[in-house]
Amino acid sequence: MDKKPEDTNKGSSGFFEFEPEPAFDYSTPSDEMTLGGQPLKILSVDDDETFQNSLRLSLSGFFYRGSKPQFLTARSATQAARILADDPDISVILLDVVMETDDAGLRLVRNIREMQGNADIRIVLLTGQPGMAPMRATLEQLDISDYWLKTDITNERLQSIVVGNLRTWEQIRSINRARHGLQSIVEASNSLARAAGMEDFSRRVIHELAQLFGVSEDGIVCVRDDQPPHSARIIGSAGRFARVLNQTLETLDDTNIREALAHSLREQTSIATAHSQVLFFEGTELAPHTAAYLATGRHLDDTERELLEVFATNISTGLVNIALTSRLNRIAYEDDLLDMPNRNTLRRVLESAIEITPPRNRTMMMIELNQYSRSCISLGIKQGNLMLQAIANRLNEVFPKPCIVARLHEDTFAILGPSNLMDAEKISQLEKPSDASHGLFLDIAAARLDLDRFPGPAEEAIAAGLLLVKRARPGEAGHIVHYDPDVEEATSLRFALSRDLYEALQSRQLEVALQPQVDLLSHKIIGAEVLARWTRPNGVVVPPCIFIPIAEANGLIVPLGRLVVEYACEALVALDRAGHTDLLLSVNVSALQLGRTEFAAEMIDAVTRHGLSPARLELEITESVAMEGDKTAGSVLASLRAYGFPVSIDDFGTGYSSLKTLQSLKVSKLKIDRSFIESIGRTEEDNSITDMMIQLGHRLKMTVLAEGIETEAQATWLLERGCDLSQGYLTGRPEPLSAFMTRLAS
Ligand code: C2E
Ligand code: MG
Ligand code: MG
Repeated sequence: MDKKPEDTNKGSSGFFEFEPEPAFDYSTPSDEMTLGGQPLKILSVDDDETFQNSLRLSLSGFFYRGSKPQFLTARSATQAARILADDPDISVILLDVVMETDDAGLRLVRNIREMQGNADIRIVLLTGQPGMAPMRATLEQLDISDYWLKTDITNERLQSIVVGNLRTWEQIRSINRARHGLQSIVEASNSLARAAGMEDFSRRVIHELAQLFGVSEDGIVCVRDDQPPHSARIIGSAGRFARVLNQTLETLDDTNIREALAHSLREQTSIATAHSQVLFFEGTELAPHTAAYLATGRHLDDTERELLEVFATNISTGLVNIALTSRLNRIAYEDDLLDMPNRNTLRRVLESAIEITPPRNRTMMMIELNQYSRSCISLGIKQGNLMLQAIANRLNEVFPKPCIVARLHEDTFAILGPSNLMDAEKISQLEKPSDASHGLFLDIAAARLDLDRFPGPAEEAIAAGLLLVKRARPGEAGHIVHYDPDVEEATSLRFALSRDLYEALQSRQLEVALQPQVDLLSHKIIGAEVLARWTRPNGVVVPPCIFIPIAEANGLIVPLGRLVVEYACEALVALDRAGHTDLLLSVNVSALQLGRTEFAAEMIDAVTRHGLSPARLELEITESVAMEGDKTAGSVLASLRAYGFPVSIDDFGTGYSSLKTLQSLKVSKLKIDRSFIESIGRTEEDNSITDMMIQLGHRLKMTVLAEGIETEAQATWLLERGCDLSQGYLTGRPEPLSAFMTRLAS
C-alpha cells in the first residue's frame, strides 16, 4: 500500500509487465492521484473560522503517499451534511463538537453513520471545551477514531492524525472494493460459464471487465493459433472497437493497441498502462493463446490489479472450458473420419423438422454401401476408408445444401432434405464414378422415408430408415425401398403377434397335427409329419406360415421346436401302445435350433425319456439349411445322424443344392417341394425336372417323397416315375393324433 506511484504498474506477483515501447504512457500519474484515480479529500467542519484557517495552513505542505489531499471546509453541521451527502468519497472529517448547538457535531456523526450509511469515513472530533467530551461508549458506537482538545493539536500531531486516518480509510475502502470486486468476479464467472462459444465468451469477457472497473465497454479479444501474432484473429470486440470483429490484428488502425496486443501474444505477458490493460491468457493443447485489451482510461490501483489477476485466472479456466465444450461438441456432433455431421446432428435436425406441422416436405434417405465390408475384408481398412471418403464426396456433390448429409455408422449415411430432391435419379448419380472418387464404382442400397408419412419421433425415424435400407436389394441399381405406413403396420402387427406367441407357448395354446405319409405303391401309411398348430383363445387359427417365421425371427422357435418334439415323442408312445410300432414321425427343424450345440443332447434326452429308438423320429431340414448351415449346424447334424436319427431334406428343389454336400449329409429321404408336384403335367420341361429329382434321390440312395399330392393323376405320374412316398391332401390332411389313430385303425 505504501508503494510510490511509479511502482503501481508492476503487480506484486509479476503477472503484469511494462511494455517498453515508447508509444505507451507510463508517466507518473497526477500528483493528486490516489485510489481509483480520485484525489483524497479531507473535510473540516468548524464554525470557528480562525481555527479552520490554522488547520488549512498546517496541512498546506502536507503530502500523503506523494500526493496532496484536497482540503474542504464547512461552517456548520448542516452544511457539512449536504457536502457529505453529495460526496461519499471524503476520507477524513475533522469535526468540531459544539457548533449551532452543543451537540451539533455528534448529531452530524449520527447522520453520517445512521442516515447516510457511510461507515467508511474516518471521524476526528475536535473540541475547545474539555467538558464536552462524549462518553467512551458513544465514541465506539459511532466509530469515531479520535477525540482531541483543540489546544492539544500541534502541527505535527495533526499531520500524524490525518495520515493514520487516511491510511485506515484506504484500507477499509480497498477491503470493501475487493469484496465487491470478488463478488463481481463470481458473477462474471457464472456469466462466462454460460457462454455458447468463443465469440460469445469474448463479448462477455469485455463486458465483465468493464463492469469490474466501472469503465465503458471498449475492448478487443483476439486469439493466436500457430500464425504470427499480427495475424491473430479478433474474436470479440465491443464499444468503439465493435467494427473490427473477425479481422486480423494487422488490420487494426490504432497502432498502439495493435502493437500492445501483438507484444502480449508474442511475449506471452500481460501489459498495464496508464489508460489500458492487456491481459494475456496462455493457451493449452485445447485453447489457443488469447489476449484481451480493455481501455480503462486510467491506471488501475493495487486492489484493482489484484482483482484483475483473480479475474484472469478465472478467464483462463473459462477459456479451457469453452475449448473443451467446442471439442466435445465436435466429438458429439461430427464424424471424425469423414468430417461431416453424425447421427446426433441428424437427430437434432430431424427433431426440428418433425416439430413442424405437416406438410413438412422433408424426406430422409438412408444409403448403405453394399460392397464396404467385402472391400474391407479383402483389401483392408484403408481401401474401406477411401471408399467412404468417395461416397461422402459424392453425397455432398449430389445433395448440396440445404440437404444435410450425415454418417450414421460404418457405411451407412443419411440425407435429410426437401422431398423433391430425394429421388432414384440421385441414387444412380451417386453410383456413377466421378473424378473426385478415383473412378470407384459404388454399389448402393437406399431407402426413402417421407417425414410427412412418418408418425413417430426422430429417433424412431432413424431406426425405421436403418431397417428399411436393410430391406433394399443389393445390386439393384437405383433401387429404393420406400417407407410405407401399411408395411409398418404389418410389422407392428407381427410384433404384437410375437408377444402373443410367447404367451401361447406358456399356456399351451400350441398343439400339433399329424399328416400321413403313404407308400405310393401299397397305399400303406408309413408315418406322419408332425406340424405345429396355433389356435388363439378366441378360436382364431394362426397359420404356421405366419407364426413360424416370427418364431424364427424372435428365437421362440427353440422352445417351440422342443415342444413339438415332446408332442412327437408322446404320439410315438401312444402309437406304440396301439400296436403301430413301425411308424415313423418327422419333425421340422429350423436353422436356429440346429445352430445350438445343446440341440443334439436335447433330442437324445427326449427319445431316451420316452424309451424310444431315435430311428423312429426323423428330422426335416430345409434344403437351404442343409446347404448353408454353419459349422455348428454341420457337427450337430452329424452327431444326431451318428446317434441314429434319420434326416430328410424338406422342400427340395427350392434352394440350391450341391451334389457333393447332399451326398456328404447322409440324408435318408428327399422331400420334393409341393411346387414341383403342382406343375406336373403342365409342360414337358416341368415334368422332366421333377423326374430328374426323383432319379437324383435314388442315385444318392435316398427314399423320395412327393409333397402336396392333391390329385390321382399326380400320384399315378409319380408312381410311374418310381417315386416312393406321398404326403398330401389326396391321402390326408394334417389332423389331430386321435384322428390319425382312427385313420390307422380303418
Ligand atoms: P412343410 O414342412 O413343407 O410342411 C408341409 C406343409 O404343406 C404343411 O403346411 C402342410 O399342411 C402343407 N401341405 C401338405 N399337403 C398339402 C397339399 O396337398 N396341398 C397343400 N396346399 N398344402 C399341403 P403347414 O402345416 O401350414 O406348414 C407350413 C410350414 O411351416 C411347414 O412346411 C414347415 O416348414 C413349417 N412348420 C410347421 N410346423 C413346424 C414346426 O414344428 N417346426 C418348424 N421349424 N417348422 C414348422
Ligand atoms: Mg416339413
Ligand atoms: Mg415341405
